[in-house]
Amino acid sequence: MTDLTNLLDLDPAQLVAYCGELGEKPFRAKQLQRWIHQFGASDFDAMSDLAKSLREKLKTRAFIASPAIISDHTSTDGTRKWLIDVGQGNAVETVFIPEENRGTLCISTQAGCAVNCRFCSTGKQGFNRNLSVAEIIGQLWMAEFALRQTKGIEPGPKGERQITNVVMMGMGEPLLNYEPTVTALKLMLDDNAYGLSRRRVTLSTSGVVPMIDKLGHDCPVALAVSLHASNDALRDGLVPLNKKYPLVELMAACKRYLEFAPRDFVTFEYCMLDGVNDTDQCARELIALVKHSAHPVNCKFNLIPFNPFPESGLTRSNNIRIKAFAQILVDAGIVTTIRKTRGDDIDAACGQLAGEVQDRTKVQERMKKMAEYQEKYGKDFGRIVEIS
Ligand code: SF4
Repeated sequence: MTDLTNLLDLDPAQLVAYCGELGEKPFRAKQLQRWIHQFGASDFDAMSDLAKSLREKLKTRAFIASPAIISDHTSTDGTRKWLIDVGQGNAVETVFIPEENRGTLCISTQAGCAVNCRFCSTGKQGFNRNLSVAEIIGQLWMAEFALRQTKGIEPGPKGERQITNVVMMGMGEPLLNYEPTVTALKLMLDDNAYGLSRRRVTLSTSGVVPMIDKLGHDCPVALAVSLHASNDALRDGLVPLNKKYPLVELMAACKRYLEFAPRDFVTFEYCMLDGVNDTDQCARELIALVKHSAHPVNCKFNLIPFNPFPESGLTRSNNIRIKAFAQILVDAGIVTTIRKTRGDDIDAACGQLAGEVQDRTKVQERMKKMAEYQEKYGKDFGRIVEIS
């Protein structure tokens, strides 16, 4: 298989070039792309409008495959989580979150993560490797057609689309795996692939300032920033990348990004950590930061109740504190939401135990650990908790 090209690795322009190498016209690339990304086809023989000679050529030179699935579970609330094998004992998570008017897929861009945020279990496992384009877009490809199959919806543009929104908020820092991430984004947006609007694709970053600028030029999509602190001293300890790109630079980059962004605001994610970043003073500092600093940024806040894990030494702010914190921001005119802690009855909350998933033999261990954690932290650990 190694000499063959995985066509999931190619963006629209690369697919045209690839077809050119095979002596084919550019429109063949569009046809091929539609078969792959709109019909979920992986069998060249099924691509009925391609010439037989081209199908035969492709069979000897290419293949279409997303990474193997280790596990696939659906929660009683409809959340569906896949654990995906990315080789060498590494696994990443892909999560589908159904809501009334949309279906959101949360995808990963790296196995592990080098940023090492203090509140993140992925960070604790360290960096393993960057995912390829096929491994990133393959999560969307696999999930869309698996969801359709479950519901008996036909593939192709006529079938009801299951995934309407994508968030790059799974494992990894997408801007530290820039090229494959942007290639995957281009496929998400392309009309001959998924045709998602830029507003419905969100990239979440811990604040890699130069790459935020580059993304604004190359492929602007909605931007979320993992902020988590209201001043540099606090953020240095929670998001170590802040030492390299402090808040003043991050805010300036966000402001510049908004010139290109499909939305007129940046979403700031803020993990609520008991006694660490959840005081009234922190809320007031945030207001000063986003409204009255040298680089005010039009923004929304998404407050995330922390899912504790033992090694973090951190605990979740209580619901009363979270609501009070939100109210201070709201009173200052900042749109603020409190995220439901996404999780389910079949697995841990989003990214919660990712650091402990090294290979498929550990899945059982992981489930056992989940039960232990629930005993220790209460039955809601890893479950969706409605607090608004
Ligand atoms: S929060 Fe994001 S950037 Fe920070 S360690 Fe976790 S995956 Fe990496």
